[in-house]
Amino acid sequence: MNIADIYGKFDQIGSLVFATVDKGIPQTRIAHLFAFDDDGLYFRTMVTKAFYKQLNETGMVSICGMYPTTRIRHDDEGMPIFEPGYTIRATGEVREIPFETLKAKAGQNEMFTLGVKDIERYPAMTTFCLHRAWGEAYDFDFEMAHRSHKLERTRFCFGGQKVPFQGMRITEACIGCGACLEACSFKAIGRDGESCVIDPSRCDVCGDCYTVCPVDAVEIVIEDTLVQGAA
Ligand code: SF4
Ligand code: SF4
Repeated sequence: MNIADIYGKFDQIGSLVFATVDKGIPQTRIAHLFAFDDDGLYFRTMVTKAFYKQLNETGMVSICGMYPTTRIRHDDEGMPIFEPGYTIRATGEVREIPFETLKAKAGQNEMFTLGVKDIERYPAMTTFCLHRAWGEAYDFDFEMAHRSHKLERTRFCFGGQKVPFQGMRITEACIGCGACLEACSFKAIGRDGESCVIDPSRCDVCGDCYTVCPVDAVEIVIEDTLVQGAA
């Protein structure tokens, strides 16, 4: 996914959750992206807001949203049913964009014109660019209404950031018993010779393979660091 694709998915959602950290305490609010270019994704806030202070202090933000609905239905047994759709999130570094720079961008790209008008109307408004980030789009169809598998996960990055691997991995300890193949309702596991392998784009990290493996061959990996092995 390139920046235009990423922006398109966020823009289709509209209102997004923007998360920051203030003295170690997570903070969220609803905001939206209003433009993109080769430098990143753009949003606005006001210099009077705590959001602005947190963005400047940490230089970081995390954004997420869900499409087409956040509503959850329930079946006869009370289990949740999610309409097919996607979630998307991006986490990374931000920088404030000077008004003169924004005006220069507006001269070349209409998307930035609204930002200029808004700041002219509300002078306390300012612009930030998420310029170095990683994230993922999580496309789900849990009932498999439109395809034969539940999940298509697409990881992305831009601005020189790399995508940390987070998920499950089968090690050389695998004896090929196939228990994980049967346990995986996401159809994320296949054969590679005698052993099994996990397709990260289909894996929900649900842990069913982890709990069923008789020889502890399934690892939990976060940011390429093994944080826990099956005991
Ligand atoms: S359950 Fe464990 S040993 Fe069996 S195939 Fe899966 S990873 Fe390999
Ligand atoms: S963690 Fe869940 S979704 Fe991922 S491979 Fe294991 S059983 Fe399948």
